Amino acid sequence: MALMPCFFAIKKRGGGCFLHQALYRKWRPMQFAEVIGQEHITRTLKGQAKAGRLSHAYLFCGTRGTGKTTCARILAKAINCELPQHGDPCNKCPACLSINDGSATDVIEIDAATYTGVNNIRELRDEAVYSPSLLRKRVYIIDEVHMLSTSAFNAFLKILEEPPSHVMFVLATTELHKVPATILSRCQRFDFHRIDRGKIAKRLLAIAQVENIPLEPGGAALLAHASDGAMRNALSLLEQAAAGSNGVRLDAETTSAVLGMVSAGPLLQLALAIGKGDASSALALFGEQYRAGAEPAAVMDRLSCLLRDLLICHMESKVELLGEGYSREDLQELLPKFSPGRLLYSVQTAQQALADLQRSPNRQISAEMCIVALARPVLGGEPAALAARLDALEHKLATGGFGMPATPAAKAESKPVSAKAETSSK
Ligand SMILES: [Zn+2]
Repeated sequence: MALMPCFFAIKKRGGGCFLHQALYRKWRPMQFAEVIGQEHITRTLKGQAKAGRLSHAYLFCGTRGTGKTTCARILAKAINCELPQHGDPCNKCPACLSINDGSATDVIEIDAATYTGVNNIRELRDEAVYSPSLLRKRVYIIDEVHMLSTSAFNAFLKILEEPPSHVMFVLATTELHKVPATILSRCQRFDFHRIDRGKIAKRLLAIAQVENIPLEPGGAALLAHASDGAMRNALSLLEQAAAGSNGVRLDAETTSAVLGMVSAGPLLQLALAIGKGDASSALALFGEQYRAGAEPAAVMDRLSCLLRDLLICHMESKVELLGEGYSREDLQELLPKFSPGRLLYSVQTAQQALADLQRSPNRQISAEMCIVALARPVLGGEPAALAARLDALEHKLATGGFGMPATPAAKAESKPVSAKAETSSK
C-alpha cells in the first residue's frame, strides 16, 4: 500500500498556505485499500463498484472513528470517477478532485445531529429529483442518521422507497438500534469493526516516520490501546503526544507521561499492593502517579483493565488481554494474590468507580477511596465485598494460606477477633 498523505484539506488563508492540519485529516484514506481494519467492507464495495452493481442506499454502522464517513467519500468518488481503477477512484480526474477538496456540489454531507427536522428532509427530497449538475450521481452522506426525528424518518422513507436513479444515499450511524426497521430493510448494511490494535500501531509508526515524529513501538502500542479501536482517536493522541514531547523519543514511558496515562511498571506495582491488602502502599503509588500528572480516571481505567486481565488469566482463557505493556507472564506473578471472586468484585468496584468519577467533585479522593476498597474488601459492608471476603477465605483454605505467616494487614484485622475470643474464654 502506498503511504501518501492527502493534502486536499490544506486551507488557504489570505492567499498564503495555512499548513497546520489535523493528522487524521491529512492521512485520511483516499482509496478502499488504504482503509485499515475494514477489509470485509472495502473488498465488497470495491467489487460492487468495479462490476457497476452499486446499491442506491447503504447503511454504515459502527463506533466513532472507524472509517464510516471516509468509506462513504471513497464510495462517492468510486461511483463518479472518470478513470476508475478496478473499482477504486483515481483521485486525479476532475470528479475525484472536486470531491476531495469539498467543492463538488453533487456530493452532499448532512449531519443529522444538526438537521434533525422533517423540513430538512423535505428540502432534500425536493432537491433529489433534479439531475446532478456536474457528476454522474448525486450522493447524500447522512451522518448520525439515527438522530432524525420520527417525522423526518417518515419523509425520508418516501424517497428511499422510490429513489431517482441518479441518487445514492450513504447513511452512517453509531447507534443502529435507533434506526427504524423500515429504513434498515431498504439499505445494504455494513458493520464497521473496532480496528485491531496491532494494525493501528503499525499505521501510527508508518505515519510518524513520514511526519518525523520520533514514535517508538512501545509508544505506538500504548496509543493504539488508548484509541479504543478508532484510527481518528489514535491519530489525535499521536498529535498530542508529539506536541507535548518536545522532540523526545516517544517510548511507552514518555508517551504515557506526556498524555497523563499510567505505564505498565507502576500499574503492576499498584496491583501488587492491592493484592497484598497493603492499602497504604497502594495509596502512595497512586499519589505518585497523580502528582506526575496522571488523570485519576486514566489510572482507574488502566487498573480495571489489569484486574480484568488477571481474571482472564485465572480462568486460563485464551481471550486477548486488554492492557498494554505487560504479558501473561507478568500477570502470573500477581495471580496468587487474588482469588477469582475477589477479582470479580475488584473489576466491578473499579468499573463503578470509573462511572462515578465522571460526576465526582473531587476525582482524586474518589479514586483513592476505590483503591482502599480494592485493597481492603474487609472495609466494605455491601454484599459484593462480603462475598469477596468469603471467597478470599475459601481461597486461603484451599491453598493452605492459613499456615503462612500473616501479613501486617491481616494481623491488624485479627486483633479484635482474638480479643473477643479471650473475653469469651474467661
Ligand atoms: Zn477519478
